[in-house]
Amino acid sequence: MSPAPPATATPADRTYLLEQIDDAAVVQVYADGFRGLPRRDRILVWHLVQAAIAGRDIFYDQRYAHNLEMRDVLEAIVAHGDGIDPGTRAEIVRYTKLFWINTGPYNNLTARKFVLTCPREAFARAAAAAGVDAATVARLEPFFFDPDLDPTVTSKTPPSGQDILTASANNLYVGLSMRDLDGFEDRHPINSRLVKQDGRLVEEVYRVGGRHGRQIAAIVDHLEAAIPFAAEPTAHALRALIRFYRTGEDADREAYDIAWVQDRESPVDTINGFVEVYLDARSIKGAWEALVFYVNREKTVQIRTIAEHAQWFEDRMPWDPKYRKRGAHGVTATAIEVVMETGDSGPVTPVGINLPNDQAIRERYGSKSVSLTNIAEAYDKSTLPELRTEFSWTPEEAARAMKWSAFASELTTNMHEVIGHGSGKVDERLRGNPQAALKEQFSAIEESRADLVALYFLPDPKVVEIGLVSAEDHAEVALAEYEGYTRNALVQLRRVREGTQIEEDHMRNRQMIVRWLMAHTDAIAVRSRDGRTYYVMTDAAAFRDGVGRLLAEVQRIKGEGDYPAARALFETYGVHFDPALRDEVVARVDRLRLPSYTAFVMPRLTVVRGEAGEIVDVELSYPLDLTAQMLEFSAATRHLRG
Ligand SMILES: [Zn+2]
Repeated sequence: MSPAPPATATPADRTYLLEQIDDAAVVQVYADGFRGLPRRDRILVWHLVQAAIAGRDIFYDQRYAHNLEMRDVLEAIVAHGDGIDPGTRAEIVRYTKLFWINTGPYNNLTARKFVLTCPREAFARAAAAAGVDAATVARLEPFFFDPDLDPTVTSKTPPSGQDILTASANNLYVGLSMRDLDGFEDRHPINSRLVKQDGRLVEEVYRVGGRHGRQIAAIVDHLEAAIPFAAEPTAHALRALIRFYRTGEDADREAYDIAWVQDRESPVDTINGFVEVYLDARSIKGAWEALVFYVNREKTVQIRTIAEHAQWFEDRMPWDPKYRKRGAHGVTATAIEVVMETGDSGPVTPVGINLPNDQAIRERYGSKSVSLTNIAEAYDKSTLPELRTEFSWTPEEAARAMKWSAFASELTTNMHEVIGHGSGKVDERLRGNPQAALKEQFSAIEESRADLVALYFLPDPKVVEIGLVSAEDHAEVALAEYEGYTRNALVQLRRVREGTQIEEDHMRNRQMIVRWLMAHTDAIAVRSRDGRTYYVMTDAAAFRDGVGRLLAEVQRIKGEGDYPAARALFETYGVHFDPALRDEVVARVDRLRLPSYTAFVMPRLTVVRGEAGEIVDVELSYPLDLTAQMLEFSAATRHLRG
């Protein structure tokens, strides 16, 4: 049992950070293992990538009803921009890049709208020069310029007089409020838009022949083309997915989830469908996303080791034993390299994913967890050192962060996904569906649970015993992680540049945990020096003890579906913050020009064709250019709209 192997050596002259737009970094992701795949797998990846691109516009439409029309106008200007005043053009290019990065005019992290800042007349002239008709520009203008029109994409803490649906600008619900849903049960919970028509609720189902039918039919065509190149368990899952895309029935979604989770050893895999529920204030409707990836065998060693010991951790969870899973159906954990991410998972992406989300299937069939190693690598390689040093109280803390943060965050991400999301069970009364009880609080509770599991077990001697960390480094790694986690509650405020509320679920969870620990333990001190605030982790043992107590409570909340307790926890510690403190943090990062979040440019695939036009091979290159990639993707799916 040896510690995790070091990262594969990469060329030193490689470009990771491509550009920065306002507080967004744009970073190229590399897929070094692609060339080593057998030819058959490379062709399989090609078809799955085409399916991923084919569905991209679905997510644009889900996120905002006006998104696709707005994107058309912007892309016309960016692509054919001759004769446009340079100042206006620069502002439109800036806005367009943020629009692509965030899939529309809402910031990914704050959920708030951002707008064009050039004069309206200048925008209209630029659009006219690019051949956009004046009536279209006039109709869309408020969506580009008015910050008070549809101000928030997903509002889980709505202003008074509104509810979580009426205050959310996304396109998952049309013309209804939460009151209309009293006694209503979604028949197609994950894959429909809910519309109130003539006083009745109608589910517009996403399927072939239904809403987004043309995009879904194109996805199905590419998945069918992929099947002959797939190993049988993957082919079986793809056939189940196609069936679900055709019928839209929830029973077929379940069958697909089961087939997908049972495909455990295939070297190439995909996630393609309506998956994560963060966009929906009710946490019910799935946002469309696609990922295509292959296994990184070397790095899978660490994550498999955690999975092999999942039951050991489960048996020692610091929560009521009645919520411990027995004979845990394992988590299949894999380190992967992504080749493509679209929709809800790109250009901004998570670094770890654990699916399916269906709690009942997880408890019966287990789950698959993937750690996106080439994303984590690109993220780490593009992070500026000042982000760690500026907020560290001592040079020793800064040095620990520089030395260990990449290693510690990879390890805790793996623990978060495998023994965090993979763990625990809920009361039978909830019928495997704690989401329904916890509503808009569910996602933040579940993310808290997974983070707390990782934080709780990181300092455990078991981690050394199974070879994840060497004995001499263990204490320092755990210390660096606790310090970094604590600092992050302060540093992440840079991402919420407007307003005084945190909307994004992962950010809520991290804020809640640190602020709860501040209120209930002596582990964290708030210090100040030269007008700068620091969150200093001062007692690792007290920190861990507090994490264990909070984890017991968070699991109880999930297990019982205790909505009032979940709401109180986040209202007290996770949602609100001091705007003066945020302003200080923003000023500190802006002085250093540090980005708040990162968008990734994916590799580009091209096919090599034989004499009869058949695909004989697939080559991979790196565009190093966000604009080129976004224009290529949009062009590839334009014929599917209409
Ligand atoms: Zn998570």
